Amino acid sequence: MALSGLDIFKLLPKTNCKKCGQPTCLAFAMALAQKKVSLDQCPDASPQAREALAAAAAPPIRLLAFGAGPGAAKAGHETVLFRHEEKFHNPTVIAITLPDDLEPAAAAARAKAIQGFAFERVGQAMPIQAVAVVNRSGDAGRFAATAELAKTTCKALILVTDSPEAAKAALAHVKDTRPLLCGATAESADAMAALAKEAGCPLVARAADLESLATLTEKLKGAGCEDLALWLDAPDGWTEMTGLTQIRRLALKKAFRPLGYPLIAFATSGTPEAQVARAAALECKYAGIVVVETLEPWALLALLTARQNLFTDPQKPVQVEPKLYAVGEAGPDSPVMFTTNFSLTYYTVEGDVEASRIPSWILCVDTEGTSVLTAYSGDKLNEKVVAKALKAANLEAIVKHRKLIIPGYVAVMSGKLEAETGWEILVGPRESSIIPRYLKEVWAS
Ligand code: SF4
Repeated sequence: MALSGLDIFKLLPKTNCKKCGQPTCLAFAMALAQKKVSLDQCPDASPQAREALAAAAAPPIRLLAFGAGPGAAKAGHETVLFRHEEKFHNPTVIAITLPDDLEPAAAAARAKAIQGFAFERVGQAMPIQAVAVVNRSGDAGRFAATAELAKTTCKALILVTDSPEAAKAALAHVKDTRPLLCGATAESADAMAALAKEAGCPLVARAADLESLATLTEKLKGAGCEDLALWLDAPDGWTEMTGLTQIRRLALKKAFRPLGYPLIAFATSGTPEAQVARAAALECKYAGIVVVETLEPWALLALLTARQNLFTDPQKPVQVEPKLYAVGEAGPDSPVMFTTNFSLTYYTVEGDVEASRIPSWILCVDTEGTSVLTAYSGDKLNEKVVAKALKAANLEAIVKHRKLIIPGYVAVMSGKLEAETGWEILVGPRESSIIPRYLKEVWAS
């Protein structure tokens, strides 16, 4: 937990010697609390003060990195309970299971399918980052072979097994990829910690309640394992969800270090719908890694969309570059319409224009990433802004006509826009989904 200026002041020498460039120790403490200066600027700070301040400055939830190269994944390092307080930093890692009891052909097909998933939404890639190799067979050799197969997906690996023997066999094949070993229980803590330490990979601590988890992480830390994740293996969904929330609160609000690690959770049972619903709830509260079983693209897309929305910085809307875009083979007779550079708005319009199969120009106007109505009500979208964009895009030289289709929601600006640009203004539909019909009826007729 961050220390206040007065807390820091108590740790300083209080000699007011000014060597730090501040007039008093109190002034220095206040500046340090605001992160305007560094403790190194006080040459007389005691080792105890340095240790206490370093501990206070450590992130309340430790960053966990696993995987290697392009398949590297990270979780944790979160600083707030609610997104609007600042933002969430590391999007939940989504992992898909690869059980080791599948027939070889089925396992290979599943690995290939996992590798092939590539989703994009509003111009952003939405990756599946990890594969969870699950030791359902209970056989160490099969687990190792499946881990080796999982390596071909080039995703970060999670080795899910209770057995130190199986973990050792798999690590022998894949430890160079820095897999996440999942996990150590109270019974297997010594053996799993030794394996994780030897392989240099992070480790999951697994227990059924918060107290046992905290005891286990302290034990693993004592054994030299600092890179940990927590698996609250609760008896039911309600206990799990409330437990995960409690862990986050304890880590952030009470700086309770034994639970200051990212969380891993499993939504691997039930229908794809049930898995997605559970996994999306786990993304919200507060899993850093969620493992699912389903391979249904629609289910994964829903989960990834929920993640994308949750981890978007609320202060920075996702934006596209404001400029002129051609949809299809747009030419001098193609319709021209404008929209704003809020990604969701732009890509929705672009998709609907594409669906019309009428090559078109979309003039994407800079509204600082806000939607049409928000921009208009905040005066970020007016006749002057659109006229400036029209001119910057040199549209008069690109198209022969002088007709501009505007969003139906801002029909009110058509008069002023016509006067400002000299173009004929056509009021388009309010809803983007009507664009294909509109273009066919109004433009193509
Ligand atoms: Fe106080 Fe250290 Fe600054 Fe001297 S250098 S005034 S002891 S904070």
